[in-house]
Amino acid sequence: MKSEDKKKQLEKLKRDMHEDKTLPLRAGATQLVFGEGNPDTDTYFLGEAPGYWEDKQGKPFVGQAGKLLDQLIESIGLKREDMYISNVVRFRPPENRDPTLSEIKAFEKYVDSEIEIINPKVIVTLGRWSMGKFLPDTVISRVHGKPQKIDWHGRGIIVVPMYHPAAALHQPRLLDQMREDFKAIPEVLEELEKEKVRQLDLI
Ligand code: URA
Repeated sequence: MKSEDKKKQLEKLKRDMHEDKTLPLRAGATQLVFGEGNPDTDTYFLGEAPGYWEDKQGKPFVGQAGKLLDQLIESIGLKREDMYISNVVRFRPPENRDPTLSEIKAFEKYVDSEIEIINPKVIVTLGRWSMGKFLPDTVISRVHGKPQKIDWHGRGIIVVPMYHPAAALHQPRLLDQMREDFKAIPEVLEELEKEKVRQLDLI
């Protein structure tokens, strides 16, 4: 899909979410926090739910955890604006509590449509709620930083499960681990690039 068409479809998706009065958590939130970034990216980051600053600004990952995410992305030679960043839940849960399974389920069709529009090759999950969407019954401590190939509605996608950056904010050991785990992202992108070249060579 062309970039302009993707942008139009994302705008429509955002409008649909605005108008969907069945979505939970709206009453306690300041505004909808839709995904943000380059719709032509290969790499889609999926977090959990907006926090205080995201709710105020209407953008994902702009608070402390977001600043750490930006640093982690830069540490592997990538830029936030070249990625797409989103959340499984799009209104801030009260008191920053975890979203419930039924809340996650209510937003699911919109997350799925967003992924379909962006059509990323790599999905980086941040935290266990977004990991659970693609890798149910998986324990994050076993798979963090390890790319997993999955079948996503008939299409092969690489999921790279990461710890949530908020968890690493006050735990230096976890932060070191996240820095290490993030190195898997450029490795996967490089492999995919090589694969593309190999396929072109075959033609
Ligand atoms: N944590 C998340 O999971 N998402 C945000 O947008 C901010 C913090």
